[in-house]
Amino acid sequence: MLYPYAYRYKLGDFVVLFHPINMATLYVKKELLNNEKKLYDVIKKSPHAEEWLVPDDFSYDEYIEKIIKKNDTQAIDIKTLKMFTTTKCNLDCAYCLIEKNLENRDVDHHNLGLEDGINVLSSFSKLAMQQRTSKKTIMLYGGEPLINKDNLFRFIEYIRENERKGLFNGEVEIVLESNGTLVTESVAQFLKKHGVFVIVSIDGTPRVHNRYRKKKDKSNSYEEARKGFEILISEGCTAVVSSVFTDEYAHNVEECIEHMTEEIKPKSIGLNLFHVLENQRIENDNTEQYYERYIQSFELARQKGLYIEHIMRRIRPLVTRKVRIKDCGACGNRIVSDVDGNIGICEGMVGNAEYFFKRNNFNEVKDDPVFLAWSKRTPLTIDYCRKCPAIGICGAGCVNNALLQNGDIYSPDNYICGSSKAFVDWALKMWFVENNIAEKMESGFHFLSYEERQSLRGTLGEEFDIPLQTMSKQYESEGEV
Ligand code: SF4
Ligand code: SF4
Repeated sequence: MLYPYAYRYKLGDFVVLFHPINMATLYVKKELLNNEKKLYDVIKKSPHAEEWLVPDDFSYDEYIEKIIKKNDTQAIDIKTLKMFTTTKCNLDCAYCLIEKNLENRDVDHHNLGLEDGINVLSSFSKLAMQQRTSKKTIMLYGGEPLINKDNLFRFIEYIRENERKGLFNGEVEIVLESNGTLVTESVAQFLKKHGVFVIVSIDGTPRVHNRYRKKKDKSNSYEEARKGFEILISEGCTAVVSSVFTDEYAHNVEECIEHMTEEIKPKSIGLNLFHVLENQRIENDNTEQYYERYIQSFELARQKGLYIEHIMRRIRPLVTRKVRIKDCGACGNRIVSDVDGNIGICEGMVGNAEYFFKRNNFNEVKDDPVFLAWSKRTPLTIDYCRKCPAIGICGAGCVNNALLQNGDIYSPDNYICGSSKAFVDWALKMWFVENNIAEKMESGFHFLSYEERQSLRGTLGEEFDIPLQTMSKQYESEGEV
């Protein structure tokens, strides 16, 4: 029989059959769809029969189980350390996950001390030595990490010294997440010398950025953030931009993307949907129009060759047919350390003693019920996701969002859910239009080819010379499923 959870999407006189897990895509004329027997024969005689047909006693659970086992996706294999170097910040961004959560939890803001930081790095190195050799990522995070500059620099030197001695059991990618406003020439020179990759937060145009990214005295921060980014680039650092897709951004998508491609010119941007806060101060849109504008940002970016990480993660599976099994690194690949040297699972939980506490041996997380539960979270096993057309591209998004929105980690992140579904419909339409599929339907059907899939990339090439690609792909299946 035909795979029972195939998605049917109408396109005028045609219907697209889409297999949400292996991404097989078949365009058919409506008449053929109404003739089940003929449709079955067409598929059976085609070279694509295996992709579409399943035995009559097909078991979805067994099918999914095999995919999970083959890709070993439920193992806890920590490769990334996200390290809070301070919780202080010179800005007061209205949507900040960290600052607002800490205020809400009544936790004071302070810097990570040198000794606590070195202890965390040393424990991470010990964990690395117990694992097989592989690339590691250390993300230096805050608050604004440059507020604790002296210790930050010492941590970076320590990582490089120990990497040279082989004590991280592989190459280390160091990533600094900064608001850019405290970057000077000497800071940039240091970061360049130590091969630190910098992510600078800039939300599109000056007006859009300044709407939510204010300084403590309520003045605007755009000019200083931009200057910081430019200093990094002129000193030869690898730096990219991270933006939040606020309502303001959504209403000014064209200007924001144009500002990025014509003015700021980063190699890539991140375009984050909102993180839910326990005490949300600004409303986020969750409407169809919001997701249409999110898609529009990708349409514009792909024309201009601008890579958008949060979107490419969902487009790539449609092109390569490798399933995105999970989304957030906290689902088995990452630990977070706070400013007191406590270890936890997710930056959204920082300041919450239930999740963050001292661990002498980082390997202990492998037996921690929270880490174990999160490592099993994939849309493939979430009941709500079972019949979803976007199950193969979505990864179910942010666990913290799901928890705060729906009270259950095994539920969707509503923002990622809305956008992932919208991307599938968009892709089915785009393939049809951009490959002139209506003209290839003399026989009443057309199986989408590998070459036709590529059209989604626009002018974006296959591989990108930008950091964090290992992390970006960490939860994609080994090959087609
Ligand atoms: S669940 Fe993942 S994406 Fe969400 S806040 Fe935590 S670490 Fe970030
Ligand atoms: S989270 Fe939403 S979009 Fe993602 S697989 Fe589940 S139902 Fe589909």
